[in-house]
Amino acid sequence: MSFNIEDLARVNVRLLKPYQSARRIGGKGNVWLNANEYPLPVPFTILQTTFNRYPECQPKLVIERYARYAALSSDQVLVTRGADEGIELLMRTFCEPGKDAILICPPTYGMYSVSAETIGIEYRTVPSLSHWQLNLPEITKLLKDVKIIYLCNPNNPTGNLINPNDLRILLEITADTALVVVDEAYIEFCPESTITGCLQTYPNLVILRTLSKAFALAGLRCGFTLANKPVIDLLLKVITPYPLATPIADLAYQALSDYGIKLMRKHVIELNNTRDFFCEKLNQLACIEKVFPSKTNYILVRFIDSIKIFNALWNQGIILRDQNNNPGLSGCLRISIGTRQECEHVITALQVL
Ligand SMILES: *Cc1c(COP(=O)(O)O)cnc(C)c1O
Repeated sequence: MSFNIEDLARVNVRLLKPYQSARRIGGKGNVWLNANEYPLPVPFTILQTTFNRYPECQPKLVIERYARYAALSSDQVLVTRGADEGIELLMRTFCEPGKDAILICPPTYGMYSVSAETIGIEYRTVPSLSHWQLNLPEITKLLKDVKIIYLCNPNNPTGNLINPNDLRILLEITADTALVVVDEAYIEFCPESTITGCLQTYPNLVILRTLSKAFALAGLRCGFTLANKPVIDLLLKVITPYPLATPIADLAYQALSDYGIKLMRKHVIELNNTRDFFCEKLNQLACIEKVFPSKTNYILVRFIDSIKIFNALWNQGIILRDQNNNPGLSGCLRISIGTRQECEHVITALQVL
């Protein structure tokens, strides 16, 4: 028998390199600083007790609360199984496999290219400039057949904000040809930088949000896509009939209550303070080449010997995110901001390396 089940799989799937999360790699850590999660649980519990009925496709109460939180109207909000589903849903709605393309600006979040590869959509890359700003002339040259540009603001893994004027220029350039998707997964850490205020001006603007980061609910798998009604209506044609399980909608509704939002804002203040303290301490260490300034709950750090550092901390149960394979980030590790104690633990471990 020479039959190989691999031969049945789509060619792009056979060639695919899956997204590498540390949970998947199987690290045995006790200090998880690799996935930008909030370090402590939030106190919400499932209140709904019956599950015999299918959930609403777009749970009305969750949509209303998110719309209020984002200062938008309900028809500008779509809820998805994490922001990751939003990333893929946009491609499946707007890009013809084998014909259209997406464009990304590395170094950036890995799921844009992973989703494009699984669906079979070409992705073009225009590396960002120094200080990780957009290379607008180069982007403009490569726009033929590009239906979606994915930007991450503030950017993962570099932690910087994109110049808001560049965003507006890009929205103008692409007004009749492409969507500009601004991934605001970390916007709660610098809320004044949101681009939601531009939705009324630009029909081609789409914003991605999540409850996984500042809201401390990565295990929930709940994200939001914000756009004008015509875009949302198209996405609603493609989304699965029941993207959100009943318990998820129940918990998301609580997280978006006045209390939930207040709690999130308190956590953001604490994390931002811890980050600034952590940065200051990191800057005093001999093993470090550069600490990049961050607007988020993680810090990108270039080490003199990042492989040694990564492995030494891994062996002590401190799990960081290696960025050596991300373009332009050789020698870099990304460190999520944990509790104050966890950050102190990292500093102590690094002091002897
Ligand atoms: C974490 C993250 C996401 C994924 O969010 P989920 O809602 O957990 O799927 C999307 N974009 C960026 C930039 C992220 O860092």
